[in-house]
Order: sequence, then C-alpha cells, then structure tokens
Amino acid sequence: MPRRIRQRAAAGVLGKFLTRRSRGRCELCSGKDDLRIHELPPFPEEPDPDNTLLACARCRTWLEAGKIEPIEARFLSTAAWSDLPSVRDAARRLLEAIPGGDPWVQDAIEATDWT
Ligand SMILES: [Zn+2]
Repeated sequence: MPRRIRQRAAAGVLGKFLTRRSRGRCELCSGKDDLRIHELPPFPEEPDPDNTLLACARCRTWLEAGKIEPIEARFLSTAAWSDLPSVRDAARRLLEAIPGGDPWVQDAIEATDWT
C-alpha cells in the first residue's frame, strides 16, 4: 500500500520538524506529558506544519473534546500570542470552549486575530 507508506514517511519528517520547533514541549502549555502530533481540521492532503502542533495529553484531549478545564487554562493567554498559526488556531478553539466570557478569555481570543 504505497499511499500508507508515503503518509507514514511524511509523518516521520513532520514529527522530527515539530519536535525541533517545539523543543520537545507541548506547543500550547509547555507540558511534556505524552507529546504527539495534533492536526487541526480541515485536514490538508499532505501534513502541513502550519496546521499541526505538538501537544501533550491534556491539550489533545481538550482539542478533541472541545471541552476544557478553565481553571487550568490560563496558559492559553500566552499561547494566543504565539507566532505559529497552528498554535494560535488551537488556542482560539480552546478559548472559545470556555463558558462565561471572562475578560482574560476575550483578550486572548482577540490576540489570536493578529496576522
Ligand atoms: Zn499541553
């Protein structure tokens, strides 16, 4: 199955790239727990670093569930200012999942809008 082999090879290169970019830490919270590649929808044909981030177990769970623990989420106000589009995009998705509209959440969501 050549397609599968090609995808795995691409993921390997991407994984190395992301590990270097992230310095081996979650690109959202700097955690080190079970880091894996997380691709944001919509999924492109080829893996795209601008659409992908290295994320720890907690952040991946939050991204997949669209539900987060606001009390643990203050790191998102830093991630919102990342110069990486995928990190800002992921931070925004998580910030928008926080109910209540705290002022720091609104400020952080606005921060993700810079280009
Ligand atoms: Zn994390």
